[in-house]
Amino acid sequence: MTGPRVSGATGRTDVSGPHGVLISGENRASVRELRPAVFLDRDGTLIVDKHYLREPDEVQLMPDAANLVRKLNYMLYPAIVVTNQSGIAQGLLTEADYDAVRRRVDDLISERGAFIDQHYHCPHHPDFTGPCGCRKPGTVLYERAVVEHAINPAMSLWIGDRWRDIAPALHFSGRGILVPTAETPPEEIEQARAQCEVAENLLDVIHHLPGR
Ligand SMILES: [Mg+2]
Ligand SMILES: [Zn+2]
Repeated sequence: MTGPRVSGATGRTDVSGPHGVLISGENRASVRELRPAVFLDRDGTLIVDKHYLREPDEVQLMPDAANLVRKLNYMLYPAIVVTNQSGIAQGLLTEADYDAVRRRVDDLISERGAFIDQHYHCPHHPDFTGPCGCRKPGTVLYERAVVEHAINPAMSLWIGDRWRDIAPALHFSGRGILVPTAETPPEEIEQARAQCEVAENLLDVIHHLPGR
């Protein structure tokens, strides 16, 4: 007979593990394996940067974006989008606009047989709403994702077109890969070359992924 039972004087609950191995309650956390994740910037990385995008019809995936996300899905790496949306603080778009654009991103990616595990966004702008911890390179949204998706950040990858997208990789001892666009400042590319990695495009990133 299997199922939870209480052991002796400690009162711990013991449960049978997947192969009938008895796992004591206090060790159960270690059984929950933390996974590597890939943190993706949105504008200029996953989709073409249209600057304060509020029209779902204008969403355009970057080349190989869906291929990258599908690969991550296949590898069981959570694909987490983290995006600064200061246009909300500036009154250039609403949370509803942001939601509509996010749904369109999800639809386009799902048409290609892939999915984003979760999107996180910072709606703030220091000049309008004061300082916050969630605006990249702030780490608050990543910390939330780490907990919500059981992520091992030191095994994770940060991908973006700006230094602020990949700087958090240094904070978490993960890997940062800059994928520059024509709008990426040259000094940020130099900084990424010195402290992280630089890829030519998302196809190149797919080749940089740890094998499995
Ligand atoms: Mg960007
Ligand atoms: Zn914020």
